[in-house]
Amino acid sequence: MSAEALLEVRDLSVEFASRHGALKAVRSTSFTMRAGETLAVLGESGSGKSVTAMSIMGLLDPVRSRTSGSITFEGTELVGLSRARRRRFPGRNIAMIFQDALAALNPVQTVGSQISEVLRVHQGASHGAAKAQAIEYMDRVRIPAAAQRYSSYPHQLSGGMRQRVMIAIALALQPKLLIADEPTTALDVTVQAQIMQLLTELRRETGMALLFITHDLGVSAEVADRIAVMYAGRIVETGTAAEVYLHSRHPYTRGLLDSIPRAAQKGQRLTPIVGSPPPLTAIPRGCSFHPRCPRAAEVCTTDRPELREISAAHCSACHFAEELADARG
Ligand code: SF4
Repeated sequence: MSAEALLEVRDLSVEFASRHGALKAVRSTSFTMRAGETLAVLGESGSGKSVTAMSIMGLLDPVRSRTSGSITFEGTELVGLSRARRRRFPGRNIAMIFQDALAALNPVQTVGSQISEVLRVHQGASHGAAKAQAIEYMDRVRIPAAAQRYSSYPHQLSGGMRQRVMIAIALALQPKLLIADEPTTALDVTVQAQIMQLLTELRRETGMALLFITHDLGVSAEVADRIAVMYAGRIVETGTAAEVYLHSRHPYTRGLLDSIPRAAQKGQRLTPIVGSPPPLTAIPRGCSFHPRCPRAAEVCTTDRPELREISAAHCSACHFAEELADARG
């Protein structure tokens, strides 16, 4: 394991059996996270980003899926851990929040008691102390009138408030790593910004690392120290947020950038990427992006480009990464 790595994912592959053959959701993916850093994993639906997060959390059904490779957290290997040991592992180490807070919360239990239950189980707090602390956590995630809201049921709160409750439950675990899987996608734009600001502040206050799963390049550039772009189950570009956003060396990332409104492009037409991602049961040979890539050449249809270092802070899996150096500024 690298000296300072909190989380190290090496050569991770995840397959599911399907009627159309093996569905390769994640293919030989590797990345590292250090304590306290924010990594945004970016990609379209079906790119493998959520399956990567689920496999780190140990949430994949071992009967329906096959995982190979290695995931180590502070040196402990998580792949192949028995279900019983895996269930005991996350707690204070890794917590996760999801896009759909309503589905993740217990509908027949008040939100406050869901937070205090975590404090009782994981921190051994008494009933009275757990309730007081739960209200403090609700305050900390800026739920107004926290003491009154303690007795609310999930359906009585707005989507944004429910997501704050989920964040409070995750914080109560005092995790070293928080995985946030599209936490703002179901919320309106103003609430999205508030939740992102809250996550950024909490990360700074607590020192926890944040693995942020998103399809939104704009959001990831705002919050992340580093960005990893996934396509068809593989990381195709990774680097500091500034490098990837301002000096992308992969046509897929450039396509994503050209399809979002950016301040610098006011008045220019947005150019969506043509076509759609391949089915994961029939990933093209060579570079899996070649059927959609405006720069594709013969070699792209036969030879798979490996993720390789372009500079100290930047890797790309494109045969022509060097030639892409100049075009964007
Ligand atoms: Fe496009 Fe070829 Fe680069 Fe793949 S390797 S992104 S097809 S230029």
